[in-house]
Amino acid sequence: MSLFEKYAPLQARLDVVKKVGTDPFGVKFDDILSPTRGRIGNREIVLAGTNNYLGLTFDEDCMAAAKKAIDDHGTGTTGSRIANGTYEEHTDLEKAIADHMGMPSCIVFSTGYQTNLAAISGLAGDKDVIFMDADAHACIIDGTRLTGASTIRFRHNNPEDLDKRLRRQGEIEGGHALVVIEGMYSMFGDIAPIDEFLDVTHKHGGYLFIDEAHSYGVFGPTGCGIAEEQGVLDKVDFISSTFSKSLASIGGFCASIHPEFEITRKVMRPYMFTASPTPSNVSAARAAVDKIKSGGHLRANLKTRAFQLHKGLSELGYDLCADPSPVIAARRPNEAIAAMEWNWLLQNGVYVNLAVPPGTPQSSSLLRISLSAAHSEDDVNQIITKFKDLKEVSPNLMAEMMKSMQAAE
Ligand code: PMP
Repeated sequence: MSLFEKYAPLQARLDVVKKVGTDPFGVKFDDILSPTRGRIGNREIVLAGTNNYLGLTFDEDCMAAAKKAIDDHGTGTTGSRIANGTYEEHTDLEKAIADHMGMPSCIVFSTGYQTNLAAISGLAGDKDVIFMDADAHACIIDGTRLTGASTIRFRHNNPEDLDKRLRRQGEIEGGHALVVIEGMYSMFGDIAPIDEFLDVTHKHGGYLFIDEAHSYGVFGPTGCGIAEEQGVLDKVDFISSTFSKSLASIGGFCASIHPEFEITRKVMRPYMFTASPTPSNVSAARAAVDKIKSGGHLRANLKTRAFQLHKGLSELGYDLCADPSPVIAARRPNEAIAAMEWNWLLQNGVYVNLAVPPGTPQSSSLLRISLSAAHSEDDVNQIITKFKDLKEVSPNLMAEMMKSMQAAE
């Protein structure tokens, strides 16, 4: 019995998926040509699953800022924020985001994942109770595991269910309720009624924490996210986000209307015991914040493309998970069919995400598309055309797969 025996069922599942073609969880691009194009071998691929919402990965100002930071301060900080790892790039970015959000406090972290680990574990103590959405992202769940707090899950995007559970909980002796939701959910692209969650949370004396990883830069008149879009940004206690999507870099932040949030820098383990983000990553993100503030035209194009794609796929009869948003996911009957179709799309020049359980809500198997402001009308038409062709070939793909699997046995 080896140490790896426990992974035999997972290995078997992966083997089936790999027999269909490329390993969907290990794709390697030979070149990235632009925010919307990659190359595998001699095939050019339309990128439609990269979370590059504003298309800033090749933005000249962001690239220049990253290069200058390397020239000025080198390639790495070699230390944590509480030791030698705080540079002017970090404090400058924290100030820029705090100003953008209109909040007195903002802390920058090394990744978006660590942001939630750090912030949630820094905020909730043993006596507090965390209420989190049933579809919470892995890093929110993992963040709660770093605390001694008890956790309660409420029905996805359902403020009434939260209200019921908070009422049932009653007074929390010596502690508080921390409610954690997301702005736009990453798999289905559905959006939280933040205004209603705020009312419920504050009515019960709790604090609201929103992960706007997929919505900062994408929603709101100045790109602050869904809370800004719904006109309640100034009331949200904590907002976290990542630099790896709209900001086209790597890292993350948590901003707060509570100036006392600053004290958590001295207790958050995923902030204190890891190296700070590199000057180049932070500077690219800093340049992207300015692009976001003035990025109304990018958001407008992104929205137009989302409506175009949603309409096109709906008309083809695809079962889409939510209303139009930059994330558009089509439900497939099962994992094997989804994997086969994902492979066919890649072979035919379109990269989307294959999303399967346990990473998806309702155990669904999805072909997930994330759009970019850099996509043109033509790009989206190409994606729709491939999904149309896929509808026609899909029934034959299964038969072919069964045949080739039998031949391989
Ligand atoms: N929050 C959500 C909702 C996410 O989807 C992700 C990553 N996809 C993260 C946090 C973590 O961000 P990062 O990949 O930048 O660490």
